[in-house]
Amino acid sequence: MAKRIVVLGAGISGVGAAVLAKKKGFDVFVSDKGIITDENKAVLLNNEIEWEEQKHSSASILNADEVIKSPGIPDNVDLIQQLIAKEISVISEIEFAFRYTKAKIAAITGSNGKTTTTLLLGHVLKSAGYDVLVAGNVGVSFALSLAQRDYDYIILELSSFQLDGIQKFRSDVAILLNITADHLDRYNYKLENYAASKFRITENQTKQDVLIYNADDAMMELLTIKAKKLPISLTTKQKEGGFYNNNNNKIIINLNNNTMTMQELALQGRHNIFNSMAAAMAARVFEVKDTVIRQAMIDFQNVEHRLEYVLTVHGIDFINDSKATNVNACWYALESMTKDVVWIVGGVDKGNDYAELTEMVDKKVKAIICLGENNENIIEAFKGKVEIIVQASNMQEAVNQSYALAGKQDVVLLSPACASFDLFANYEDRGIQFKKQVRNL
Ligand code: ADP
Repeated sequence: MAKRIVVLGAGISGVGAAVLAKKKGFDVFVSDKGIITDENKAVLLNNEIEWEEQKHSSASILNADEVIKSPGIPDNVDLIQQLIAKEISVISEIEFAFRYTKAKIAAITGSNGKTTTTLLLGHVLKSAGYDVLVAGNVGVSFALSLAQRDYDYIILELSSFQLDGIQKFRSDVAILLNITADHLDRYNYKLENYAASKFRITENQTKQDVLIYNADDAMMELLTIKAKKLPISLTTKQKEGGFYNNNNNKIIINLNNNTMTMQELALQGRHNIFNSMAAAMAARVFEVKDTVIRQAMIDFQNVEHRLEYVLTVHGIDFINDSKATNVNACWYALESMTKDVVWIVGGVDKGNDYAELTEMVDKKVKAIICLGENNENIIEAFKGKVEIIVQASNMQEAVNQSYALAGKQDVVLLSPACASFDLFANYEDRGIQFKKQVRNL
């Protein structure tokens, strides 16, 4: 009899895993506690996969041989605990799909910069003419893609939740960009627990594999690693690794006695120098030619909602950085501003420590507009330090207020440092509403 695979959560990754499992001949059942979208229901139907919604029926789940769990479901819920007690293997879509590819894999994780670095590396490899899949957290299911065909190279963006569900997953190249406080609500508010999840990106790597990591991040000293280490730094020279030379603005990539330099980048901001270095280093490991890497870094198109320039209205620049959902991302956004800032901030606070932003806010911000559920923490952190702090209850109000408060030559920056689920469907919705209101001015 075919082995039974139960998929919990029918989002992009869950449905993808179900389709791949069905294709590989398993007996597949999908269960979602919420409502499954019509689009996903159609995919399940077309593939003759059984499903249920708005409930988890224990009888149909606890008889699984293996369970593929959506990264959105925390481990401490009852059902998962029951599965663990019954010693039923619970894995992520990433672990499952990994069993069905022969591709060379680059896996990217970190608190910030994952999507940018993933897309950038994908762009470089595609420019080199490689057969590449870009998948994972970028919104493309790894499993669903493999259900169609295998690739030579796979670039995967992985969140800490996806890494929590791996067992044997291994990548030829792993990139660990940075570790700063985020999602601590899922990790008992302990940074070490969250860091341990991120470190799992390298746990199954061997001597033949490579770990590209952030040499400027003190958290990385906690790592024990079997893979070859290639450090990346914005400040310090690296013999074998990548670094940025502040004196002549050049990026140097040293690998296997070969030196490559890079200067012109499509993406602006210090954090993007870092992301570009990491992507270039990975591309070098995959033996892409220097000239191809340099050209790809120049013609890469910026990703929506990440320091995205929207419009200039009466001399005021409007910038959409809706994807900045934590304090560190926001720090880099503020750092890259060269004009006085009217800052739209706020949303669902994930345990933010705004003190980290004090110096940057002091230097750059002339007015704050709080837009969200947890404004008290922001007001508390900056009252007395920033002259004008106002509150808005929707995006239209926030944009109108920002327009009234900004002077010619100022910039209005939406960089929330928070999740978006209070007033918006997600960060994309928040960014789109911002752009719409700006265009209405
Ligand atoms: P992720 O996928 O990890 O959320 P993104 O590439 O989508 O990262 O960028 C999210 C936000 O983080 C952007 O708004 C950007 O300003 C900021 N950011 C990007 N790269 C970095 C980095 N290396 N360090 C700190 N912040 C970054």
